[in-house]
Amino acid sequence: MMQTSSLVTEKPALLNPMQLNLDKFRGQEPIRLLDNAILQRQAARESNARSYPRRIPLVLEQAQGIYLRDTAGQIFIDCLAGAGTLALGHNHPVIIEAMRRTLDSGLPLHTLDLTTPVKDRFVEDLFSILPPGFAKRARIQFCGPTGADAVEAALKLVKTASGRKSVVCFSGGYHGMTHGTLALMGNLGPKAPLGSLGGDVHFLPFPYDYRCPFGLGGDAGIDTGLHYIEQLLTDPESGVLPPAAIVVEVVQGEGGVIPAPNRWLRELRRITRERGIALVIDEIQTGFARTGKMFAFQHADIEPDVIVLSKAIGGGLPLSVVVYDSVLDTWKPGAHAGTFRGNQLAMAAGIETLRYLRDEQLDAHAVTMGARLTRHLTSMQTSHSCLGDVRGPGLMIGVEIVDDRQTPRTGYAPPADPALAKSLQRQCLENGLILELGGRHGSVVRFLPPLIISPDEIDQVAESFQRGLRAALAERHPPEEKMPTGVCMETA
Ligand code: PLP
Repeated sequence: MMQTSSLVTEKPALLNPMQLNLDKFRGQEPIRLLDNAILQRQAARESNARSYPRRIPLVLEQAQGIYLRDTAGQIFIDCLAGAGTLALGHNHPVIIEAMRRTLDSGLPLHTLDLTTPVKDRFVEDLFSILPPGFAKRARIQFCGPTGADAVEAALKLVKTASGRKSVVCFSGGYHGMTHGTLALMGNLGPKAPLGSLGGDVHFLPFPYDYRCPFGLGGDAGIDTGLHYIEQLLTDPESGVLPPAAIVVEVVQGEGGVIPAPNRWLRELRRITRERGIALVIDEIQTGFARTGKMFAFQHADIEPDVIVLSKAIGGGLPLSVVVYDSVLDTWKPGAHAGTFRGNQLAMAAGIETLRYLRDEQLDAHAVTMGARLTRHLTSMQTSHSCLGDVRGPGLMIGVEIVDDRQTPRTGYAPPADPALAKSLQRQCLENGLILELGGRHGSVVRFLPPLIISPDEIDQVAESFQRGLRAALAERHPPEEKMPTGVCMETA
């Protein structure tokens, strides 16, 4: 029987009485976004590459659950939640308690990749939620400790194992911001100033139904995309050498919350398997119940060769891993290293996150809450045709904002309206709702709330969003002449 460490035992009692809650959110004075000395110092001292503070200019002081409080005492609902990291919300008592226990225990907090009872338990628990067949063959590499570093490791792993030099990925994809992972990014903005990113990377069209890359949509769009992929990998004159891997997100997150259809994923699995190409699934944002299953690939009932994980697996603390089929385990000792691979606090927090997700069945809860929010949003669509498309599984929901005043070409969706999306984000913030933008031209409003969100809180999110929408529409500019074509620099 597995030895249980005293650091990862009993479910703790709640630590604090609720301080931030829906009543306090609802009872507060209208929010005023003010400039202050801290924000001014941040703008003066921090890099021009800073991103979120430009759109969410808050000085944060306290957090609990789905709520954040700024230094002016104003309460916000956080539907960004660390870009999808905070499955249990801010400062969840079970995570705080796990961290306290770990700190009090004297466990070394930094261990490189040496092991501890906490690490052992984390690995056992993680393997217990993998598809059983895959778990039997799986190996894990701890990376250090961002999602991008785990993607880098996955690339090195599959290249070493296959001896192949190229990789295939998808338009609209996001796999991180390091030099290597940028090569896999769809968004041209952050890549444009850098020129060659090295690596032999080929982009394929992703099945984006609302704006089908083939102008077809539906089954015809899916079939054409699959035919194109298979043809490219088969044609001796395609110009593309057999790749080491196809790297894919099951739901493109930063790319605008675009879910891949299950049938498309199953076919991608078949195509890669038949050609001995590793299928690398980036579950960094979708993993740990966000989409209603522990891993998003489970919706399609497939098994990848490599799973890349980060964000929620560390309970809000930095942690990233690659879990892969042991047939790929041909790289040499030390082939992927990094000083911060042994974050014990993150592993302790990750153990408790996983336990809570399972005990409270937050996967099913994400489905119910996601459906509730989707119902609100689709009912708003009937009176607001600027909400072009509402999509996404579980609590990973996107609303594509379009310029409904322009006539689209026949069979095409109306053009994106990035100006309205930006103004909507700001107006939502002024109504206490923190949302992020993603997708082409930054025109998709993204909802990534903590998975512990309650039905009443979902209703409040919808209400605040509707208020923000009315305010943004009231200040909307005259229609743009043309569909925007520029690249979008701002991303997570
Ligand atoms: N892959 C996906 C799917 C992501 O959503 C992200 C971050 O948002 C990353 C990789 C990169 O993770 P990190 O920002 O921790 O490097």
